[in-house]
Amino acid sequence: MNPLRKKSLENLFNKQPKYFSSDKIHSEIFADNVFNDASLEKYLNKEALSQITEAISKGSKINRSLADQIASSMKAWAMSKGVTHFTHWFQPLTGGTAEKHDAFFDLLPSGKPMERFDANELVQQEPDASSFPSGGIRNTFEARGYTAWDPTSPAFILGKTLCIPTIFVSYTGEALDYKTPLIKSIQTLDQCATEVCKYFDKNVSKVFPTLGWEQEYFLIDRALASSRPDLIITGRTLFGHQPSKGQQLDDHYFGAIHPRVIAFMQELEYEAMLLGIPVKTRHNEVAPGQFELAPIFEEANLSVDHNSLIMDIMQRIAAKHDFIVLFHEKPFEGINGSGKHNNWSLETSTGVNLLSPGKTPMSNLQFLTFFINTIAAVLSHESLLIASIVSASNDHRLGADEAPPAVLSVFIGKQLTAVLEDLEHVSKGKLSPEEKTDLKLNVIGKIPEILLDNTDRNRTSPFAFTGNKFEFRAVGSKSNCARSITALNTMVAEQLQKFSIAVDQLIEEKEMKKDDAIFNVLRDNIKSIKNILFEGDGYSEDWKATAKKRGLSHHKNTPDALKAYVSKSSIALFGQMEVFSEREVRARYNVDLQEYILKIQIESRTLGDIARNHIIPTGIKYQNILIENVKGLKEIYGSAYEKHAAVQLKIIERISGHIEAISDGITKMIDTRKASNSIEDKFEKAQAYCLKVLPFLNEIRYHCDKLELVVDDDLWPLAKYRELLFCR
Ligand code: ADP
Ligand code: MG
Repeated sequence: MNPLRKKSLENLFNKQPKYFSSDKIHSEIFADNVFNDASLEKYLNKEALSQITEAISKGSKINRSLADQIASSMKAWAMSKGVTHFTHWFQPLTGGTAEKHDAFFDLLPSGKPMERFDANELVQQEPDASSFPSGGIRNTFEARGYTAWDPTSPAFILGKTLCIPTIFVSYTGEALDYKTPLIKSIQTLDQCATEVCKYFDKNVSKVFPTLGWEQEYFLIDRALASSRPDLIITGRTLFGHQPSKGQQLDDHYFGAIHPRVIAFMQELEYEAMLLGIPVKTRHNEVAPGQFELAPIFEEANLSVDHNSLIMDIMQRIAAKHDFIVLFHEKPFEGINGSGKHNNWSLETSTGVNLLSPGKTPMSNLQFLTFFINTIAAVLSHESLLIASIVSASNDHRLGADEAPPAVLSVFIGKQLTAVLEDLEHVSKGKLSPEEKTDLKLNVIGKIPEILLDNTDRNRTSPFAFTGNKFEFRAVGSKSNCARSITALNTMVAEQLQKFSIAVDQLIEEKEMKKDDAIFNVLRDNIKSIKNILFEGDGYSEDWKATAKKRGLSHHKNTPDALKAYVSKSSIALFGQMEVFSEREVRARYNVDLQEYILKIQIESRTLGDIARNHIIPTGIKYQNILIENVKGLKEIYGSAYEKHAAVQLKIIERISGHIEAISDGITKMIDTRKASNSIEDKFEKAQAYCLKVLPFLNEIRYHCDKLELVVDDDLWPLAKYRELLFCR
């Protein structure tokens, strides 16, 4: 047996959970390692404190002297906790996080050593960051990229390093990360949504999106995983026959959590608490070896940072517990993959959730306004929303039976469907007092504060209203949430802007009362959004046909879906809402296409190597054992040997057949790869990888998995599905 596979299996059953204990309860340690309002209060004088609070809430500039004061308090606070280094922490387009540490330590010209950290270091840095994906925005001769402090997300301590959340932009000002456009989309959404809120409550001065992500992941024993180069390199298994037991008994979902896993979760939660990440929920997911983690929702920018941060921490803590974490959307064939539901809503400076029905008809009209406009925005830009969640890895999951269907639709539940039907029949123009009273009393006045459908919701819907928020379920587990949330914020901002323009026009030109105008515009919106509303089974064939008739786009693969990024309407949307310039949108499109190409290329190479260097030789080894056996039988039985060696002979032949198919497949795959590599146009190249190279992966895998079933278990080099999924 492969010594790695053998040793890890032998050791597995002696592994004890590494329980983590602390005498502190979570509320005592929450955000201890975060430079938040409480720390600011402790270190800053009153005037500085009110200046920074105002700058953060209004997004205004922080002057040099204030930045100096903040830097010096940050340093004092961090050093009191034993911190020696600082870093600008950012989220480049690699999908991960980036950090480059510098010491506080410095030498004065006199040679005297000291600890230094002032506004210069806090506000802006120029990491030598020429190697991050830029989609053509940066040439190597002007490779400079800048990180700039994001004061809306507090600094935190990781190990002995002070991490300062930053945006990452090019010398010429274009975004090179996920945070820059996210912040812009939050600002534009704030403006447009606050404008609409003023119809209902003049006291609202700010609106911000909230995000609560639900992170799914697999935990696999580290030693076992190390015998799988495919898992280590690509994050998913490129081989592996189905085990006889997968998830068909549904016995993992919400089951008792394994002691080694609980030990991991406890330590993770402790670390998350110190960093101010309000983790709340943990449970076993559907697939064996799969789990979920969810926090209490937060303001979207902070929530995105927390998701990126926790994905890093999870890997680190998993290693301590002899696990690896898989964030890939489909690490194992034949069992559920992982997603990251993005729960999204809008909250006002007055503490109102705009997607939660209220107590009065007026607050419900406000709720309906935001509810209907969100759906209208999704309808206008459904293909862009899909483009914001696709990737080589999420392609394996989308459209499969366990995951959201490949067509975007919105589920709203029975009660709200009925409300929309009533509103659709509101008269055109000014409403009579009777009609208005009737509407207020019998339609919007009747929306219960807590919607029943909240508990009875459609699990097959990719974008579902769940009582007080929308839940975008198509987001991949590996993805940075900022990608989809930026798109969603921007389209909703645009729609809200259109809405207030339409309402104001009716008020001014038709001399309508405010609520008449709102009813009129909503009624028109309801007529069009019906196109994307769907309450039925999203997996059914019927729906696919209906969706096609409705003109909704059907996601087939990533290159195809990505085209929506550079459509006229997306470029106009991002440009008008000042989230991306056309150059930036095109750059992102290029980065995504390039990532797609590289991911498939790496998978294809890894698969070719393992099949040639591990699997074919294993097949031959076993075949040789059988040949020896047949020779022995011939010695004993002479010409009658065939009767006794019938099974062996059949297996020998079968092995030859599979080996030949594997070897042929690899040769053809390499030729196809070469041909694809010579294509200049990025989109066409991505398509070639998708339509021509990718099919070989399945074909070669098929024969390798068949060999796995035939070859002596003792000889098989790769840890098997049953071991990876069930042994811990
Ligand atoms: P599930 O979808 O697993 O049934 P819940 O519906 O209880 O779970 O909540 C899922 C997530 O929704 C949680 O992470 C929670 O923080 C988040 N959430 C709840 N309210 C809001 C909101 N107003 N805005 C954003 N996220 C929210
Ligand atoms: Mg959910």
